[in-house]
Amino acid sequence: MRDGRNSSQLRLLVEQLSQQSILACYQCGCCSAGCPMAPWMDALPNQLIRRLQLGRLATNGLRTPWVCASCLTCGVRCPKGIDVPRVMEALRTLELRSGEDHVGPSELAPEHLRSLPQIALVAHMRKATG
Ligand code: SF4
Ligand code: SF4
Repeated sequence: MRDGRNSSQLRLLVEQLSQQSILACYQCGCCSAGCPMAPWMDALPNQLIRRLQLGRLATNGLRTPWVCASCLTCGVRCPKGIDVPRVMEALRTLELRSGEDHVGPSELAPEHLRSLPQIALVAHMRKATG
């Protein structure tokens, strides 16, 4: 997401990709309250959606979509039926489409390449590289 699109365009793109209505969120916070990855996020899921609604999402360097483990808890808890993990996926997709890997293979430390299970490495590459 390092191109010149503005934030309202970003919301429309996210809605298009995720097939979720960002404006349907009424900020109850149930998604964030159940998120196991919340302590490692720089914006909680409901905060991220609020910023999208207000056209104030600065996505450069945003950690939340990458920290999201796609566990689906937030989507199950949402009283408005918003599939929040799909919103996270859309944000990741948009960043990867800008042509930059989030974390490329060459950026992984040799000890991680040696010690991590192969399935974890493959899963990581599927998520973090275009
Ligand atoms: S899918 Fe992502 S944002 Fe939602 S609860 Fe799980 S880790 Fe948190
Ligand atoms: S649970 Fe749903 S309605 Fe509530 S803040 Fe999260 S996305 Fe919005």
